[in-house]
Amino acid sequence: MAAVAEPRSGDGRRLVLLGPPGSGKGTQAELLARWAGIPAISTGRMLRQAVRSGDSLGERVEDVMASGDLVDDATMAEVVRGRLGATDAARGFVLDGYPRTLGQARDLERILDDLPAHLDAVIAIEVPEEELVRRALARQRADDTTDVIRERLRVYHRETEPLIDHYRGTELLSEVDGDQTIDEVFDTIVAAIDGEES
Ligand code: AMP
Repeated sequence: MAAVAEPRSGDGRRLVLLGPPGSGKGTQAELLARWAGIPAISTGRMLRQAVRSGDSLGERVEDVMASGDLVDDATMAEVVRGRLGATDAARGFVLDGYPRTLGQARDLERILDDLPAHLDAVIAIEVPEEELVRRALARQRADDTTDVIRERLRVYHRETEPLIDHYRGTELLSEVDGDQTIDEVFDTIVAAIDGEES
């Protein structure tokens, strides 16, 4: 692990990580969560758990997930509202995989307003397309076909990439080069977050 300063105490950290599939977003979310002592909230992981447990949410989302497409915004808002209201998220959280559409970004603002809370930073991890494809093929999950991987990338460009522009319009966005080692990406993110605090 790279040597980085301890997180500053003070108000909580409410972070969103944006990035295409294969950008290392999940890994960075876990590292940031451990560093700041806050939960990493991966909507993809929550949905996969629901599918495994066979509950009504799982039944509702199973086919959409298998196709590589997105679950509808209303369902996702319900899932995220419940999770962000839990006590362990009161001091902060790292959202990994949400929001993924402009509608979800607006839903998130509403959910946070109701708590009440606000985002502290949005980190967009950027990786060149050919590197994403290389990584995707290397780490292919047993249930992923090349078609599903391609579909996820297409959906990212169409639905999620516009969020970068959306957050660029706020003071929240930092764009980070994800084509570095895991430690280097982590250090860059921490510098971006701490820079915004001062
Ligand atoms: P992930 O592990 O983040 O790649 O998510 C796996 C799958 O879960 C995605 O391909 C979507 O089908 C679904 N999913 C996860 N998060 C969201 C979200 N915020 N909005 C819609 N669908 C989602």
